[in-house]
Amino acid sequence: MIWIGSHVSMKAPDYLLGAVKESIGYGSNAFMIYTGPPQNSRRVDVDRFRLEEAAQLMQESGIDPERIIVHAPYIINLANSLKPETADFGAEFLQEELRRVTQIGASTLVLHPGSHIKAGADVGIRWIADRLNQVLDADDSNVVIALETMAGKGTEIGRNFEELQAIRELVNKKDRIGVCLDTCHIHDAGYDLTEFETVLDEFDRILGLDSLKVIHVNDSKNPRGARKDRHENLGHGHIGFETLYGIVHHPRLENVTKILETPWVEDRPPYREEIELLRMEPASAAIEAAAQAVEARKKTAEEAEPGENPAAAAV
Ligand code: FE
Ligand code: FE
Ligand code: ZN
Repeated sequence: MIWIGSHVSMKAPDYLLGAVKESIGYGSNAFMIYTGPPQNSRRVDVDRFRLEEAAQLMQESGIDPERIIVHAPYIINLANSLKPETADFGAEFLQEELRRVTQIGASTLVLHPGSHIKAGADVGIRWIADRLNQVLDADDSNVVIALETMAGKGTEIGRNFEELQAIRELVNKKDRIGVCLDTCHIHDAGYDLTEFETVLDEFDRILGLDSLKVIHVNDSKNPRGARKDRHENLGHGHIGFETLYGIVHHPRLENVTKILETPWVEDRPPYREEIELLRMEPASAAIEAAAQAVEARKKTAEEAEPGENPAAAAV
């Protein structure tokens, strides 16, 4: 049994009910939402989320509330020591977000640790931990904040397992801190996913496998170590389908929720097809994925102007 779903939208008028319906349409048994637009902090009241109908539909279709993942908006930067008001605003928002997550009935909130701007990673780590303490010390829910592994673009913190561990080390309520592992991000940060067993061992040694709550399953548009963070559809990027399939079906990760954040194809979400691929037997899945990747490349080449680089045209 794998727990898999995708990022789905949560918007008026159906909110959580709409998110559940969308997930069911993809054949998911898990999903990830933002409580409002990911790029801003305007939030409507949770009373409007249609929670009861959503809960009922989830029960009917076998989606455990444990498998609802909430992603905090990416404008939050708890590490911004150069603009303390930004960090403080982030902490206030996070405090309210924990309440919303609790009301929704979810128990995992994914958070980008933050960017230190120019203050250095050590300062950034301390700022993040201080604000997490402020937020968590005032919250008595069981929601786990899953710090996401980042690609390391700009001054992002969380570009390796050690930085996430350094944050958790400074947090008082350590059992409220978990990890979200994003395959595109760790690949872009330099981890070799073709040696995934080694990566997992390293994760276990530094952070402990118990802390791994969510895996964001994405291929990457860029080679390993590029520090770019540009997601690609499964099998169409530099990680490759077989590696991602192996991660999704890894026996040590059976209980971890997997979420797709791959880009839309021709104005349509690709999640139904990608989830179907991941549910196939390994041999047929590999063949089907390879055929689809060839098809996509052909299309890209046709669309490109003569003499133009097909890879560049795909962007
Ligand atoms: Fe994220
Ligand atoms: Fe992610
Ligand atoms: Zn990303």
